[in-house]
Amino acid sequence: MSDYRMETKCVQAGYTPGNGEPRQIPIIQSTTFKYADSDSMGKLFDLEAEGYFYSRLQNPTCDHVAAKICDMEGGTAAMLTSSGQAANFFAVFNIANAGDHVVSSASIYGGTYNLFAVTMKKMGVDFTFVDPGCSEEELEAAFQENTKAVFGETIANPALTVLDIEKFANAAHRHQVPLIIDNTFATPVNCRPFEWGADIVTHSTTKYMDGHGAAVGGCIVDSGKFDWMAAKEKFPGLCTPDMSYHGITYAERFGREGAFITKATAQLMRDFGCTPAPQSAFILNLGLESLHVRMPRHCENAQAVAEYLEKHPKINWVNYAGLPSSPYHDLAKKYMPGGTCGVVSFGVKGGREAAGKFMAALKLAAIETHVADARTCCLHPASSTHRQMSEEELIAAGVPGDLVRLSCGLESREDLIADLAQALETI
Ligand SMILES: *Cc1c(COP(=O)(O)O)cnc(C)c1O
Repeated sequence: MSDYRMETKCVQAGYTPGNGEPRQIPIIQSTTFKYADSDSMGKLFDLEAEGYFYSRLQNPTCDHVAAKICDMEGGTAAMLTSSGQAANFFAVFNIANAGDHVVSSASIYGGTYNLFAVTMKKMGVDFTFVDPGCSEEELEAAFQENTKAVFGETIANPALTVLDIEKFANAAHRHQVPLIIDNTFATPVNCRPFEWGADIVTHSTTKYMDGHGAAVGGCIVDSGKFDWMAAKEKFPGLCTPDMSYHGITYAERFGREGAFITKATAQLMRDFGCTPAPQSAFILNLGLESLHVRMPRHCENAQAVAEYLEKHPKINWVNYAGLPSSPYHDLAKKYMPGGTCGVVSFGVKGGREAAGKFMAALKLAAIETHVADARTCCLHPASSTHRQMSEEELIAAGVPGDLVRLSCGLESREDLIADLAQALETI
């Protein structure tokens, strides 16, 4: 990790060109890499030497960008994936397999909920979902003998609940398992979960990191702090020889700093191939270069919009952690003193029907499943991203039927508020 401040890391970390080399990260658009003799390539396969041989496993462009995010989060190793879904899948499946169990916050992204509750369940991994506001005793009761990880989102999409990271980290560590935090909405500019005890961080880089709605992607970062060998019997995948990889014991060979990401690359990327395109990594890096400039503006716009909506007679409620009325205001001040994110949710009086009419009347805010874009966008989750959930599940996930999610972009806040005002006139 470099000693530079976040602003400098956003612009320059991860890639330092040598004399006469390109100033911008080169796009290495090549599936494969050439060697003079088989022995030197063999050393790469044995993980004895570092280098590239096939872009399904690793590519230099992607690695430079992963190294930047790693530095921004304060981690020791990182990898890019083709999507945020792949990042969360890999982060969990790297340590929890058939017969294992994971404790997760119930307030998480709909796609992740589906991945855990449906798809990974079919693979034999069981999840217990807990209310993120639960007491320490309730959290404690969710653990089982076979629990291998704890999962939560810094700021949940779309419920916008703020996780008490320290509470979840302490519970995880009492049971000698790591805490995995999806830090997509906060980004390392606003929160660095490793500073609060998290062990692994994931991102959907599709959101603020890219920031322009241009490239789907994900990232996993390891803090290098979790001692796998101290809980050897829980993590055989890291602490016993991998017969599919020349008998390597990842935790021994690569230590705390490198074991998790090396295993995820050597096994999961090899076998599942959720590889990011070098071109997408390049685009992601352009977004990262201005992340520290964009995040404060997203937050300022969201704060102004939230304050406006809270006073509006046609709005039932507003959920934004930057408002003193938010139940998450104190947690947000603790974990994200510089601001949370640009996403605001609110309930329109008149429920589903009024919400639909209001959204159709918006001119600047486009209806999209996307968030965290330079352009303002909005969504009615109950009829789109979360439509596979029952009414009870919707409420448990913090996404009631009248909820509208508004992702404030980088436009003028006066124009955004004027657009909301004219759309609210129509209902
Ligand atoms: C969007 C999102 C994901 C999934 O990421 P994709 O890049 O769309 O696959 C995961 N977690 C959170 C919090 C998200 O917002």
